Amino acid sequence: MSGGSDAHPVEGRQPYAVVGGGVAGLAAAEALIRAGQRVILLEQRAELGGRISSFRDPDSGWYIDNGQHIWMPCCTEFTDFLDRTGVSDLTYTQPRFRVTFLERDRKEAVLQALNLPTPFHLLLPLLTFPPLRPGDRAALLRGLISLKFSGARLFTEGRDRRFGEWLTEQRQPAAVIERFWEPVITSILNQQVGEVRADLAAMAIRDSFLAGKGDANLAWMSQPHGSVWDRVAGGLEEQGVTIRRGTKVEGVELAGGDDNREPRLSSIVLAGGERVPVAGAVMAVPPGALRGSMPSELRDTSPFREGTGLEWTPILNLHLWYEKPVTEEPLLCILNSPLQWVFVKPGQSPDEGRDPIPSSAQHLNLVVSASNRFLGEDDRQTTALLLDELSAVLPGARSTRLLATKLIHETRATFSALPGSEAHRPSQQTTIPGLAIAGAWTATGWPSTLEGAVRSGRAAVRSLGVSSS
Ligand SMILES: Cc1cc2nc3c(=O)[nH]c(=O)nc-3n(C[C@H](O)[C@H](O)[C@H](O)COP(=O)(O)OP(=O)(O)OC[C@H]3O[C@@H](n4cnc5c(N)ncnc54)[C@H](O)[C@@H]3O)c2cc1C
Repeated sequence: MSGGSDAHPVEGRQPYAVVGGGVAGLAAAEALIRAGQRVILLEQRAELGGRISSFRDPDSGWYIDNGQHIWMPCCTEFTDFLDRTGVSDLTYTQPRFRVTFLERDRKEAVLQALNLPTPFHLLLPLLTFPPLRPGDRAALLRGLISLKFSGARLFTEGRDRRFGEWLTEQRQPAAVIERFWEPVITSILNQQVGEVRADLAAMAIRDSFLAGKGDANLAWMSQPHGSVWDRVAGGLEEQGVTIRRGTKVEGVELAGGDDNREPRLSSIVLAGGERVPVAGAVMAVPPGALRGSMPSELRDTSPFREGTGLEWTPILNLHLWYEKPVTEEPLLCILNSPLQWVFVKPGQSPDEGRDPIPSSAQHLNLVVSASNRFLGEDDRQTTALLLDELSAVLPGARSTRLLATKLIHETRATFSALPGSEAHRPSQQTTIPGLAIAGAWTATGWPSTLEGAVRSGRAAVRSLGVSSS
């Protein structure tokens, strides 16, 4: 592990439990072991990673990611977490922002950062961005400048305002919304651009496109997610973390609470009845699981009930395996289509599949964010529609044999970044000594992202008073 451990766990002391092996839980476990605590991580599933994970497909036997994830260098805590857990070499970051845009009956267009001082490195390419007409480009520039200099108002009042209202106020033309704001904002925040919270939309643009050079470069994992988390887990175990997969937590138990003393967390109860005595715990699970694990008299108190008021938005991922490559670009953004992004999946050559995939094949991951309209639809029809959209913009996909498809709906991919959602995001500190909560859905200042998950796990550990740095 490149970050190393500052301290060694003290034998004999009771461990801190981390419940949930998603990114928030893994980050909490890493922060606790770095602070010299004994740590036990309990994850109900066989795979780590939670909403960024891989699974063995029961039909084909192939090892498949649940859904494409990207992040940017402005996600500083997530990047630091990857460094500290020694997996940065399993990720790829663009040396310079570059995205190829495709649209039916139009020429392909590339948006690439220039070697210029910020923010001109991206503003100038936008001023010549072919999908927009000159008047629309000027309107976009006006909108971006206004956002950059909007001051705190957009961020404070924006929590309870729709970004669509701001776009109307700024007189952003429909073409600019369709070809810039919608693809960028919907893919980052998993919410339609008109209805998303204005503060988070503004933050997404300010911290990437309008930030320092390189802050908008896209990064992704170059191995299946599960392989990355397996290496993270191996490193944590080497440092002394006990990881129990396939271990569902049923509840927490408190002790004390008499003689005017506050009740304190005493143990974690596992499915099957086993009790694990603990010095403290970070519950890094979704809101429903958190509420359900609390003693009945606490379930409807703050902060354990807050998150259950959040709404959730789905993401659809369609995996396609073509007999041979149909594109040379690592990622494509599709404009004015229900299909939004196409990623080439590297390092996905399943070794144990019943039908081994030829090494010459290309594996594409098609993404539809905020995919509500496809929930409840016939998956074969959805697959056919997205294949049609792909063929319309990528000639290679028309003429190349498709070997296999796999459609995945993640119905609760992210909490819905809607006005008013912040009221349902409690802080990581709870009213029970020794008990903290984490998860990208808690109050992090960030939307539901990998960065938010890491921030929440680390904040939870700090709130327990066992911070390492
Ligand atoms: C398809 C998809 C695409 C996404 N794309 C992006 C992206 O491009 N960029 C980005 O930054 N973010 C993206 N996200 C969001 C990101 O994945 C999440 O915000 C983040 O992974 C949440 O992490 P978490 O640890 O808070 O929660 P989770 O990942 O939900 O982890 C919670 C864990 O707790 C476990 N658990 C629950 N109950 C119990 C119990 N009783 N006992 C034991 N364990 C339990 C669960 O099994 C799970 O492993 C995407 C999400 C999805 C689904």
